[in-house]
Amino acid sequence: MSHKAEREKSSPGNRKKLKELLHKSDNRICADCSAADPKWASANIGVFICLKCSGVHRSFGTHISKVLSVALDEWSDEEIESMIEVGGNSYANSIYEAFLPQGFSKPTSDSSYEERAKFIRAKYEFQEFLKPSLRIVSSKSSFSEGSFRSCDSRKDKYSSLDTDFSTSTAGMVEFTGILKVKVIKGRNLAVRDMLSSDPYVVLTLGQQKAQTSVIKSNLNPVWNEELKLSVPENYGPLKLQVFDHDMLSADDIMGEAEIDLQPLITSAVAFGDPDSLADMLIGKWLKSHDNALLHDSSVRIVDGKVKQEMSLKLQKVESGEIDLEIMWFSLSV
Ligand SMILES: [Zn+2]
Repeated sequence: MSHKAEREKSSPGNRKKLKELLHKSDNRICADCSAADPKWASANIGVFICLKCSGVHRSFGTHISKVLSVALDEWSDEEIESMIEVGGNSYANSIYEAFLPQGFSKPTSDSSYEERAKFIRAKYEFQEFLKPSLRIVSSKSSFSEGSFRSCDSRKDKYSSLDTDFSTSTAGMVEFTGILKVKVIKGRNLAVRDMLSSDPYVVLTLGQQKAQTSVIKSNLNPVWNEELKLSVPENYGPLKLQVFDHDMLSADDIMGEAEIDLQPLITSAVAFGDPDSLADMLIGKWLKSHDNALLHDSSVRIVDGKVKQEMSLKLQKVESGEIDLEIMWFSLSV
């Protein structure tokens, strides 16, 4: 009997869950180099990665990173469940890249093997970008037990790690919150192919990127897709770019806009736990000649959540508007 045949097969339900996780927006970009459409995963770390980065991961040995192909390999239920527990690339990176030095550039899809290997080794093997008190290089358990859970249980894990390693619990959370950005729709977007365009939206916050799916031949696309980004303490503007997907050449840009997150986050922080508040207006980002707003955008408490709807006029392009809804979830409550 071959080694492969001995492995326990996953249930069809779990296979489906793994596919669904892969198709979540933050997992459509390699966790390490941001290349599009990663088809590989590190089952114990809980990240989806591209072919090139998977080669580096494999070189570490399976005690650090257990590389599997999403499509070709046989996964066990346990491996799938541990991927689901981590919750995808954004959550994993909010831990493993929590302390990327300012101005640090992550590898890109074009980076050489050496550049890639240097970064990936620093990120997972030496855990250089973790919060200092979480660096537990001497202990293998952080990987083998799949310690990084989704954000809700992460704080518990922090405290248990802090106990284990007798470090201070003061100022534990370096990411202050999570943004859920619902990219609703676009209007009157620019033509980049013969008659139409195949648009998709990319959001960038610091080192993090998330993107929507591509909508074929549509200048008024409806995405209704939710993208998640972690917000560090010193956040800058959220950058939105629209691209035309092109099979044959590089994707063309179809405009961009910058979103000032300050009105949302400062008012949310000032008002505290939204669960305890009735629906109300708590802040506003005002339209001005030097921002992309089409009209003033209100920050509201709606059903215990902090929400901000906005319509943006795309900049550096002949036409195009995008509607978004942003939700803020504080990690520090
Ligand atoms: Zn990659």
